[in-house]
Amino acid sequence: MFVLHRLHVAAAAALLALTSLSAGAAETPRPAHWEYRGARGVAHWAQLDHGFETCGIGHRQSPIDIQHATPAPLPALEFGYTAVSPSIVNNGHTVQVNVPAGQFLTVAGKRLELLQFHFHTPSEERMKGKESAMVAHFVHRDEKGHLGVVAVLLEPGSKGSAFDTVLDHLPRLAGETLTVADLKLDLQALLPKDHGYYDFEGSLTTPPCSEGVHWMVMRQPVKVTAKHIQAFRAVYAHNARPVQPLNGREVKVSQ
Ligand SMILES: [Zn+2]
Repeated sequence: MFVLHRLHVAAAAALLALTSLSAGAAETPRPAHWEYRGARGVAHWAQLDHGFETCGIGHRQSPIDIQHATPAPLPALEFGYTAVSPSIVNNGHTVQVNVPAGQFLTVAGKRLELLQFHFHTPSEERMKGKESAMVAHFVHRDEKGHLGVVAVLLEPGSKGSAFDTVLDHLPRLAGETLTVADLKLDLQALLPKDHGYYDFEGSLTTPPCSEGVHWMVMRQPVKVTAKHIQAFRAVYAHNARPVQPLNGREVKVSQ
């Protein structure tokens, strides 16, 4: 039984390697390298790669500055998060925490699975023009492939929070992955107590800037210590896209 199982795994791994080899060779060329500043920075994303055009011509782009919000009876965010053993990856643009399958957010009866969360500094979202020190984006996907992102604003505080556990284990080099032995992260503890939120349609905030992303920005920020903000900024000093025009989009806020 055991030997068979191992063979099966080896065969699957070989198949995966072959698939990625052939895909890498011709069918899907790697997207262009992009950055936040300079010649490959935010103002040039749309020109770097044909696949990035939406970054320039999209009309429902993220992030946004939330100046006005209309109170509305928004559905409750039901977080079915538990404690997980994550892997923490430096992907060259941010530090991303990949979570194992089985973590869900349910909104209006629709179930979205949490894929990962990652950080930006300063926050990409603004509230009446004001940015926060950092933001965490929790990226979810439903069974049809639609994305829903929950943003938790992070502000400096003396007490800190569960985020500090992650920020204590930042992989410093691009491409580096950290799995910390015995690290159990309670995902529920990362969320603010008040689950009120702002709701609007937007996009990915990084190339290819794809639209059709459902944004849910938590109204209440969460505290992290100044030391942990500095620790993140020692890895990524600035990784936030500027705010984008609303173009008539309505922002709703839960009552
Ligand atoms: Zn993000």
